[in-house]
Amino acid sequence: MPVMKDLIDLHTHTTASDGSVPPAQLVAQAKALGLEALAVTDHDTTAGLDEALAAGRDSGLEVIAGVEISVAGPNGGSLHMVGLFVDHRAPALAEGLARLQQARAQRNPKIVANFRELGIDLTLEEVRGFAGGGQVGRPHFAQALAARGVVSHPDEAFRRYLAPGRPAYAPKFRFEPAEAMAMLKAAAGVPILAHPGVLKLRWAELERLIAQLRGQGLEGVEAYHSDHSAADQGRLLGLARRLGLVVSGGSDFHGAPKPKVRLGVGKGKLRVPAGLLPHLRERARRIRLR
Ligand code: AMP
Ligand code: FE
Ligand code: FE
Ligand code: ZN
Repeated sequence: MPVMKDLIDLHTHTTASDGSVPPAQLVAQAKALGLEALAVTDHDTTAGLDEALAAGRDSGLEVIAGVEISVAGPNGGSLHMVGLFVDHRAPALAEGLARLQQARAQRNPKIVANFRELGIDLTLEEVRGFAGGGQVGRPHFAQALAARGVVSHPDEAFRRYLAPGRPAYAPKFRFEPAEAMAMLKAAAGVPILAHPGVLKLRWAELERLIAQLRGQGLEGVEAYHSDHSAADQGRLLGLARRLGLVVSGGSDFHGAPKPKVRLGVGKGKLRVPAGLLPHLRERARRIRLR
């Protein structure tokens, strides 16, 4: 019995990046839940989109093509930029993502070497076994360490080894926000700042950052997200209205790697209204017609 009347989820991950659910299965879960639309937004890759879009057509669920790109952020940190309604065959986007794949291919052996120096002999093959055939990232190193019993939980692997400043960390190339937003728009995508509340900036700083990004091409903010408090959500909705930004939202579902976050409802209270969709579609149309 569908329970999710007039609700959508515009931020989800599959096995193409660090999620545990394959694209077609994710679409089936969204359909069973009764969601009105699902966006697939894997980290730095569109490799899951053809399967997801085909499953959407077969099941009659609206599937929106998306991607989530990590870009350079304040104080050496990173920001996540979600693009919605992307044409994943557009050369500008495909080439940009290819560059990120290349950056990963160079970085993963460095992480392996860092572990070796720590006396932990992981192999890339072993780590790849946790990636479900998709792109290999730090979450898969974390899962491999947990499986070996080196840590009791993948989160511990980040805290002890994989987070920036920890001994197995290796940096990787990142685009500047303006470059990533231009890439997304060249592929007809709507660039949206993902989960601004997760940045843990003071509100005045976050407001300044979002206004600055808007000057560089930002079109929307993700006000609804599993890790946002009611206050975050309310403030972001107000800011979007003041700055003329479009609003998006999603659970950031990953499946097993983030077991507390469920599709559609996040940690239980998330509700992303389907009423956002016409505004997002209109923004996408304007970007296409530029
Ligand atoms: P990568 O793109 O390979 O650098 O991995 C980044 C991904 O790792 C993020 O998208 C998160 O899903 C996950 N991640 C980053 N930091 C942490 C953390 N402290 N604990 C758990 N997962 C994390
Ligand atoms: Fe992730
Ligand atoms: Fe993210
Ligand atoms: Zn995400």
